[in-house]
Amino acid sequence: MSDATEINEPTERLEATQSFLQRAGKMLIGGQWVDSASGKKFKTINPATGDQLAEVAEGDKEDVNRAVAAARGAFENPAWRNMMPTDRERLIRRFIALIEDNIDELSELETLDCGKPIGASRYVDLPLTIDTLYYYAGFSTKLEGDVLPHGCSYTPEDRYFAYTQREPVGVVGMIIPWNFPLLLLSMKLGPALATGCTCVIKPAEDTPLSTLRLAELAQEAGLPDGVINVVPGYGETAGAAIANHPDVDKCAFTGSTEVGKSIVNAASGNLKRLSLELGGKAPNLVLEDADIEAAIAGATMAIYTNQGEICCAGSRLYVHRSIFDQVIEGIVDNASKTKVGPGLNPASEMGPLINQAQLDRVCNYVDGGRSEGAEILVGGGQKSGKGFFYEPTVMVNTKPDMRVVKEEIFGPVLTAMPFDSLDDVIKDANDTIYGLSAGIWTRDVSKAHQVAAQLNAGTVWVNCFHIFDVTQPFGGYKQSGWGREWGRSAVEHYTEVKSVCIKM
Ligand code: ADP
Repeated sequence: MSDATEINEPTERLEATQSFLQRAGKMLIGGQWVDSASGKKFKTINPATGDQLAEVAEGDKEDVNRAVAAARGAFENPAWRNMMPTDRERLIRRFIALIEDNIDELSELETLDCGKPIGASRYVDLPLTIDTLYYYAGFSTKLEGDVLPHGCSYTPEDRYFAYTQREPVGVVGMIIPWNFPLLLLSMKLGPALATGCTCVIKPAEDTPLSTLRLAELAQEAGLPDGVINVVPGYGETAGAAIANHPDVDKCAFTGSTEVGKSIVNAASGNLKRLSLELGGKAPNLVLEDADIEAAIAGATMAIYTNQGEICCAGSRLYVHRSIFDQVIEGIVDNASKTKVGPGLNPASEMGPLINQAQLDRVCNYVDGGRSEGAEILVGGGQKSGKGFFYEPTVMVNTKPDMRVVKEEIFGPVLTAMPFDSLDDVIKDANDTIYGLSAGIWTRDVSKAHQVAAQLNAGTVWVNCFHIFDVTQPFGGYKQSGWGREWGRSAVEHYTEVKSVCIKM
């Protein structure tokens, strides 16, 4: 086992970050920064060191009730409800400009709180967050309805003028996980603000900081009080209170499939609308004719991006038997050279896992795979020293029914299997309860289309992986969720269609 302290955590932090950490202990309800009703706080810690970063207000049911009431009031407030579309778009763009002005601080907070390399926060997460808000801001002025070619067959004498219009769905509860705190929030906040909804946001208990700072910027931009409310807290208390709340009209959730199912149950009380982006176990297929160097680099990145803590990670690698050894050798070489260390140090290519529980979970999976007969070619252990670091790992000799192959590990662990025929590998690739994403590496364009058509996944990448853009709908088949985020159709999930019929 190597030593995680080879790359140290820098002691220097931005002044803005330090100052925010001192004032992160309140929650935003109805435009006021307040203590939790219980007065309780919880600690958020730096996963690179295990040290406390800040104390945060611990919200529960009572705070959610207050936040939902504030969001309802804001939803009905004409200042928001009847805002001119151009003014709404301008206001959201002002908010985005403030995010851009504070991008370094937000990136640093993101890395401190969730561990990922600072380059990823600064040049991937934050720019994509901004792009997402920007894209949806434009919908404020483009929420159009239709004039309908109406003709009522049983009143042929009469004429009607009928049209549709889109109205905001109302109060939206947003429950966010810890792996991409701002980005996954922006995918919900963007369409919600553009359509005139109001929000109660519950960031993950591990990563509330960047969301709280974002809420400050929303206030500074001039979003009316109560449009954005933030209630940090635990899932079983604050999260469940949002999912259960009779006055929340929609819940937008990203997280595990298990919690997604509990949200479905909780939402049935008032039949609130749901969008769910859940787990994955993506197959990544390297065909016989692939560009081998590109496939090696791509498969490495597909699994180790964000420490493997990404629902669309390419965690099940299938390589044609004729090139299996060569591809695996390349990935093992890459994995052994990956620099694992604190995200704040620019030399780190992979950061720590989010917390001790996640580290234990990854250790258990790998140990379980080992005892079932899998062979570990590289990695397979946590790193010594402070923080929750795990080594990039490659496992071979795995069987389809092993837990490491079937279940989502959410860590830097690749299982690799050879295949002989395309029909077989497509069957294996689809043999999962999940269907979020998949990868194909081939030089044959028609094969790429044929295989893409047969993979049961919401996103299929060909000769690339983890390429995201706000124009590209993202979401899953099967138990990977309901609905799609990103793209224009996401706006539909934040609106109701009203049809109006007028007798002429
Ligand atoms: P992950 O596996 O990424 O930690 P989780 O599904 O556990 O995903 O958590 C995602 C989000 O869901 C977090 O904000 C968490 O607090 C919240 N959450 C956890 N349990 C519940 C629950 N029972 N009801 C509502 N939200 C929950």
